[in-house]
Formats: sequence, structure tokens, C-alpha cells
Amino acid sequence: GVVVGRRVRSRRKWKRVVGVLRELEEACETPVGRLRQVVDAMAVEMHAGLASEGGSKLKMLLTFVDHLPTGSEIGTYYALDLGGTNFRILRVQLGGRRSSILSQDVEQRPIPQHLMTSTSEDLFDFIASTLKQFVEKEENGSEPSSVRARELGFTFSFPVKQLSIHSGILIKWTKGFAIEDMVGKEVVGLLEAALVRSGLDMRVAVLVNDTVGTLALGHYDDADTVAAVIIGTGTNACYLERADAIIKCQGLLITSGCMAVNMEWGNFWSSHLPRTSYDIDLDLESPNPNDQGFEKMISGMYLGDIVRRVILRMSQESDIFGPVSSRLSIPFILQAPLLAAMHEDDSPELKEVDKILKETLEISEVSLKVRKLVVRICDVVTRRAARLAAAGIVGILKKIGRDGSGGVAGGRSRSDSKMRRTVVAIEGGLYTRYMMFREYLHEALHEILGEDVAQHVILKVTEDGSGIGGALLAAANSSSSVDNSS
Ligand code: BGC
Ligand code: MG
Repeated sequence: GVVVGRRVRSRRKWKRVVGVLRELEEACETPVGRLRQVVDAMAVEMHAGLASEGGSKLKMLLTFVDHLPTGSEIGTYYALDLGGTNFRILRVQLGGRRSSILSQDVEQRPIPQHLMTSTSEDLFDFIASTLKQFVEKEENGSEPSSVRARELGFTFSFPVKQLSIHSGILIKWTKGFAIEDMVGKEVVGLLEAALVRSGLDMRVAVLVNDTVGTLALGHYDDADTVAAVIIGTGTNACYLERADAIIKCQGLLITSGCMAVNMEWGNFWSSHLPRTSYDIDLDLESPNPNDQGFEKMISGMYLGDIVRRVILRMSQESDIFGPVSSRLSIPFILQAPLLAAMHEDDSPELKEVDKILKETLEISEVSLKVRKLVVRICDVVTRRAARLAAAGIVGILKKIGRDGSGGVAGGRSRSDSKMRRTVVAIEGGLYTRYMMFREYLHEALHEILGEDVAQHVILKVTEDGSGIGGALLAAANSSSSVDNSS
């Protein structure tokens, strides 16, 4: 009698959990029809964002980058890459030919947590002094660079309203940064003031988004590159747009006929997106509610937290995990690398899952059945994210006529069924270090586009485009190159 009673109770407990799982699966469904609706919505919003300032949740920000590095760039340039968990400083030597980066020195530092929410002065003083040490170390022994001022590409990966190629105003913070006094301020001025305070003689040649740096490096390596996507802590994309399609900037002289547009697609929204109650709660409890809706369903900062919320809910509904662990209530405790490790655990006993559930989440009941359940949750959440990102990419291709639907310049014309080779540069840890995410993204891309078209679309991982691309753009916009050409 006791054994039977226990079994019945256990079955009832599992039934409740399975109910929660089914509900999640259903809410996260992304059949190809729905993805196509997201593709269309993305293309529509792109048009709207280009038509007028504030015309869409997609900001479609001007970058003032109207020529990409060609390969002729030569000399030594610095880059500062600020925008995620780490900040990086680079010194890049360019050889004057395409893909001829002669040498590259990098220093990477985590951004001290307290600086992410302090004052702009604290943040930039810390960066300037780190930069100064780096420059002194690098230039020690080599001849003084008095011939030419040092030039820096500043990659700042947040929404910025550019005033020129080397200045811009921070619109808002994303990814957990919250330095209130900086919002609405011109960013380069703040950096330059800190450089002066630190006594480092350096000119900021360009201010760019990380997607734009990635596009620059992608294009430097492969001239068929038309867009760049980042899927890391945050997510975003930029692409090359025809000047005459950027209605809102008519009157601005764009000599080359095109400009890189920073979409800020993290803030994309559409009623076609498959949203769950976990997404709604995550958004409400985030430092930027009602913002970055697409990003919160896709990027590395948030995926683990969606999974945490699902486990918490299940744990509250039933005791299959044992007593509710207090760890399950800690926001962002489950980071993307842990998610990937659990999802990709291929040991028969799911040892990695076991370890993470016990050590990070302090869950006491971790039977094999429980471990499998957790892997399933990771799969549902990650698959949805990857497939939505794929839809976003196809949305861009559609906007620029490279989705194979035909008729538009640059795409497949009626008479010529051969589609042009189309390269999208891509970066970010979620894509490069999470195999399942990458596979799901590719799978969806093929589903949406069909094999005929998909075979012409190449997603190409660039290595540190946000840093190196910043240096390349500094070179392409250096005061010396401007002097030479005039
Ligand atoms: C920012 C973008 C950035 C992206 C990837 C987003 O949160 O708004 O500017 O490109 O993260 O780093
Ligand atoms: Mg980055």
C-alpha cells in the first residue's frame, strides 16, 4: 500500500511538471510560417525606422560610416572596445593590403561590477588609465610616435545617436549598464576628457557600434559582406543601406551612395513573437522594462534567466526538485555558458547537468529524470532564440533584396536566377561558443530561405571584429588619410 501510494503521488507530481513543460513548449513554438511573419515584420519595421525619426521601435541609427575599409589602410591604430562583460584594448598594425593585419596586441579586462552602475567619470577614468598603461607598455622601446598623433577607434556597443563619425549621444543603456549621468551625453567628449585627465595624448578618430566594427572587418576580409550580426551578451545587427533608401536623412551628403545602418534590432517588437509569461516577468523585473524585447528573447544575458524562471516555477508547483532552492530566486545566476554546458552534456548520466544543478542552483533532488527535464527546458528556450535570430537575419536579406524573393536590385532578378553570394559577418559568444544555438540558427535559416537560396548565404564568423574593425575604421577615417586625400 505504501509503495503504491508513493508511486501515485510521484505520478501526480510529474503530471503537474509535465503540464508546465507542455505549456512552455507550446508558447515557444516557432513553425516556419510564424518565422516568416517575423521576417516580414522585421522588413516592415526597417522601412518605418528609415522613413522617419521615431517611426519604429527599430531605431535604424545612422552611423556616418559611408565607406568601409578597403585594404589600403596602413599604420598603427588603437581600439577600445566597451560594451559587454569585458572591455578590450587593441593596438593593430595594418599592412596596406586587404587582410594584411601585421600584428595585433590585445588586453582584456572585466569591467568591475561597481563601475557599471557608478558615474561616467569613474568609468572613463578607469578606462583611460588602463589605456595609458597599455600604450606605455606597447610603445616602450619603440621610437616615439611624435610624427603622428595616436588615433583610436572607440567601439561603444550601446544605442548611440551619432552626430558625426566621431561623436554621438548615448540614447539609453542596455545589458545591465546603468550610469545615469551618461544618458543623453556625448560619449566621445567624456572619453577625451578622461584621456586629458590621465595625460594620454590620443585622438578619437571614430565612434562605432560593435556591429559596425564587425561589418568593417567582415568587409575587409570578404568584399561580399553586406551585414553584421552580434549574438553575445546582447544582440544587434547592422547592414549597408543605399543612401536614397534612408529617407530620414535626405539632405545629408553621402558621397559613396551607401551607409552602414545600426538597426538596434534588440529593441525590435512584433505581435508575431512567441512570448511566454516568463518573458513578461523577466522584462518587468529588468532594469529596462519595455525595452529590448527581441534581445531579451535571444541574447546570452537573458537565456539562462528564462530557464531559471521555468525551473523555479516547476519547483514551486511540485517537489520533484526537493525543497525550493533559494538560489532559484537569484536573477542571472544561470549564465549562458552554464546553459550551453547543460544543453550539450552528452554523458549518459548527464554529469555536467548534475553538477550545475547541485553546485550553482543548489537543487537537492537531481534524478536522471530531473536532469533530462532540465535539458529539455534549455532546448526549448535556446531553440526559440536561435530561430528568431535567423528570422531577423532573413528580414535584413529581404529588405536589401537578397532573400531570393526576386525583383529587387542586388537580389535574384527574373531573368537571372543566379543569386549573388551574400556574406553576413557574425560574432558573439552565443553563436561562436554554443553549438546547439548555432545549429538551430542554421537550420531555421535554411527552412525559411529554402536550399536554393540558402546556399548563397554565408554566415561568416569574424574574429574580434568589434575591436579590430574599430581600428580599421579609425585608419579609414584617420586625420592623416584625410590630409593625404585632400
Ligand atoms: C546594444 C547594441 C549592441 C548589442 C551587441 C545591445 O544591447 O544595444 O548597441 O550592438 O547589444 O553588443
Ligand atoms: Mg563585444
